[in-house]
This record gives sequence, C-alpha cells and structure tokens, in this order.
Amino acid sequence: MSEITVNAYGKINLSLDVLRKRQDGYHELRMIMQQIALKDIIEIREIDEGIKIESNNLNVPTDSTNLVYKSWKIMCSRFKIDKGVHIYIEKNIPIAAGLAGGSSDAAAVLKGLNKLWNLDLSEKELMDIGLEIGADVPYCIIGGTALAEGIGEKLTRLPDFSDKLILLANPGIEVSTGHVFKSLNLNSITKRPDTNILIDAIRDNKLDCVGANMVNLLETVTIPKYPIIEEIKNMMIDNGAVGSMMSGSGATVFGIFDDNKKIKKCKEILNKHIDIVIETTTI
Ligand code: ATP
Repeated sequence: MSEITVNAYGKINLSLDVLRKRQDGYHELRMIMQQIALKDIIEIREIDEGIKIESNNLNVPTDSTNLVYKSWKIMCSRFKIDKGVHIYIEKNIPIAAGLAGGSSDAAAVLKGLNKLWNLDLSEKELMDIGLEIGADVPYCIIGGTALAEGIGEKLTRLPDFSDKLILLANPGIEVSTGHVFKSLNLNSITKRPDTNILIDAIRDNKLDCVGANMVNLLETVTIPKYPIIEEIKNMMIDNGAVGSMMSGSGATVFGIFDDNKKIKKCKEILNKHIDIVIETTTI
C-alpha cells in the first residue's frame, strides 16, 4: 500500500467551561465535545522524500505550520522512518472557526500513517502522540461524544448522541483561539454550564434539555466583540432551533434542530445574511 484516504471530521462543543487559569498559563477546561459529519478528506501518498502539502482551499497553510506537517514529522522521528509523503487536504471544514479542522486533519494523518506504515499503534498510543501536536488532537482521534477535561486531553466517552440535526453558520470572522483565552476574564463570569445536567440529558436523549443547558464561557469574549454571533444565535432560536451556541472559540454558531423542515427553513433564512451556512448531523 502506498496511499490512503482518511476522513477528518469536525467537532462542536455542547458546552465549554473554564475552571481556572493554571500557573503555566493554560486554562483548565471542562467541555462536552461532539463530532459532526462535516469532514475534510485527506489523501496521503508516499513520495521519495520530504513532504508536499496541497489543498483545494488557498487559505490552508502548505508549510510547516500546517498541523499535518507536525503529524508526519513526529511519526518519522518517533519510529525512525525515512519516507516522504504528499498530502492533499480537501478542506470542507471552515478554517479558524472553532470546529477543530486543523486538529482533526492532524489526527487523520496520524491514523493514516499508522496504517500506511503498518505501525500497529493502539488508539491510546496515537492519542499520546496527538497531544504533542495539540490539546484537541487526542479527542479528534477518538471522536464521538466525549467529556474533555484538563487542557482538553483527559477524555471520558459519553453515551452516543448521533444523528441530531445541526446547522452551522460561520460569519466569516477568523478567530484566534489563543487571543480569546487571553481576553477571558474569569472574575466577570455570571453563568457557567451545568455539565452534569447536560451529560444526563445526552444519556436520556433529551434534545430540549441539551439545547436549554448549553453554555460556552468564551462567548463572553467574542459576543461583545462580534455582535453578529448573538444575532445568529437569535435567528437560530427564532427559527425553531432547540438550542444554539458558539462552538469552541468561535466564530461558528450552531443550532440543534428536531425537525427537518425547520432546519431547512432556518438555513434558507440565514443564507440571506451569512455566507457559510452548512447543514450537518452529529455522528
Ligand atoms: P480549534 O477549534 O481546535 O481551536 P479551529 O477550528 O478554531 O481550531 P483551525 O481550522 O484548526 O481552527 O485553524 C486554526 C489555524 O491553524 C489556522 O489559522 C491555520 O493557519 C492553522 N492550521 C494549521 N493546520 C491547519 C489545517 N490542516 N487546516 C486548517 N488550518 C490549519
């Protein structure tokens, strides 16, 4: 085998709580992560030497700043492999949008190289390597529904919450995750998510209860700066979403729907104001 194609799925956060700022500057988090069907498609092909990254989207970096470069580099050095790769990224997940596109691409390349080079690494081993690339990469390796704690790397699987109708709306603002965390003022927080209620609601498949209890602390930074985020949330709710929230550090807003007609209608309405509106599902 000299080539392989791997799917890199996006994620949304059903909640995002920041517990405290640690001495090392990182924030201690408690988040519910949910994988979605929207995906990048990554084709990896062996070449004589080095790495060549290409994408259908000109905004995807093709140099060593691309997280897939880090995946290749770390696998080569860890397992003393001297093989080049050509990586083509079909980018469908909006970039710098809170949907973990880069982390998911990195996770997909780790999985792909594991197969391509017959390394036989376990999921746990891949997650440990992934953490050296980024805090969200271990989650992207396991996917599904999960509670993420620590800096996002302590993962506990949650009951299945697949096949829920999700509408994504991205206002075209690229948000830097680092900047959002730096601007977060934990002393001014008045509303935190009750993560345990959400976990119960996920287990009992109570969509209304999930929708009503979703809270993302990072909205306290992004909404004052970009009021369009709040406007999109209101449009989602006014048009039948059972809940709507910003994902990760934004600026993508998602709505959860329990009805196919409502999600289609809402998409039509949002499309009049927002360029990127995508219908997907949880997986
Ligand atoms: P997260 O939710 O994990 O914070 P995000 O979805 O907000 O991530 P990404 O799409 O991963 O953000 O992009 C963040 C930055 O990472 C981009 O500005 C881009 O320059 C860089 N980047 C590195 N590798 C990739 C990649 N494979 N795809 C997209 N962006 C990448």
